[in-house]
Amino acid sequence: MPSSLLLRSVACAAVAVLLGFAAAQSNRVEPAPGLRWWKGNLHTHTLWSDGDGFPDMVATWYRDHGYHFLALSEHNVFAQSERWMPSRAINRRAGVDAVARYRQRFGPQWVQSRGQASDGSEEIRLKTLDEVRAVVDEPQRFLMIPSVELTGTAGDGRSLHMNGTNLAESLTFRRGATIAESMVRNLDQVEEFAARTGREVLLHVNHPNYKWGITAEDLASVVQERFFEVWNGVDNDNDPGDAQRPSTDAMWDIANALRITRHQAPPLYGLATDDTHDHHDNKTRALPGRAWVMVRAHHLSSDSIVRALRAGDFYSSSGVALTDMAYSATDRKLTLRIDPVAGEKFTTQFIGVRRNGTAGAVLAEVIGLNPSYTLQPGELYVRAVITSTGKPEVPSDEFPTKRAWTQPVGW
Ligand SMILES: [Zn+2]
Ligand SMILES: [Zn+2]
Repeated sequence: MPSSLLLRSVACAAVAVLLGFAAAQSNRVEPAPGLRWWKGNLHTHTLWSDGDGFPDMVATWYRDHGYHFLALSEHNVFAQSERWMPSRAINRRAGVDAVARYRQRFGPQWVQSRGQASDGSEEIRLKTLDEVRAVVDEPQRFLMIPSVELTGTAGDGRSLHMNGTNLAESLTFRRGATIAESMVRNLDQVEEFAARTGREVLLHVNHPNYKWGITAEDLASVVQERFFEVWNGVDNDNDPGDAQRPSTDAMWDIANALRITRHQAPPLYGLATDDTHDHHDNKTRALPGRAWVMVRAHHLSSDSIVRALRAGDFYSSSGVALTDMAYSATDRKLTLRIDPVAGEKFTTQFIGVRRNGTAGAVLAEVIGLNPSYTLQPGELYVRAVITSTGKPEVPSDEFPTKRAWTQPVGW
């Protein structure tokens, strides 16, 4: 080999070694990353059920808006089969040329169609969850969590929707004679699935006041259920209650009082979700970006997110952010650190139930960024609702300013 060539190949080898070293550095797996907050929405609809957006468009919206995880939770369907939908039906539902927007965003290589737009026979294939994951999932950055909204009516005619998070297959709604019996039957099937697959799963009760389907007593009596939506971003789903019926926030404490005193069961945890249906900025009923959960975990994986949720290591939000949240069992003290925002004032209500009480009471109200509360004898638990004077990024008809909800502690 001529010496110049030899030199060149040695140089190339050196570059390759250097590049290899650099690649190994950047791909290094962190053995134990610290705990951090992950932002996610557990309740979303797309064209696979009654939403008006393509699943890949919806997933990229959440990814582009700083979320870390997203569950597409369609009504009784899992996005895993071949599904074609007429362009005309898509655009009619969206109220805009959603197909053109989709093509513009992803290009002709990605969008799959058949038939002709000119004679109205064009159809578009909806991407499966696996396909969506291939373009948006990224380690420690963004994760799609498989989900389904089990949707049905109990034998007594009342409506029940429950979201199953981290499923690996579609389950079908199991109907019981009453709401409580239907809840139990669906919880049983999800628990069977978890035992069979070894996955961490969660089945939560959605929007209890939607069609006034579920009462605080229902939520109290099914003690194996631990989760419900204290805030669902959809307008007109009756989260604030009415003259006769309690708000979802008040239901939380009524149910918890019954669970702890009558059923000797742990309290419910409260989730906030978008329940997005409207993805084109032309409707306001069910928009993305209204409500989410902040989960504290080491890793961004479906199992670790669900495990942290089940452990109660999360808070729900419609805009207020916390930097820390800690409960000391020895001092019976809950301490919060609120992330400041210029020009906004924060008021924290510590809410709990007193022994022999049947509903929640404001135990203390604190203004400022570092509120804390020490449980007093005779108080069954404490949770916090932080309200800002700032308006949410995505306003809703049901509440004017940003809030956050922490989970009951001290029970
Ligand atoms: Zn629903
Ligand atoms: Zn829904």
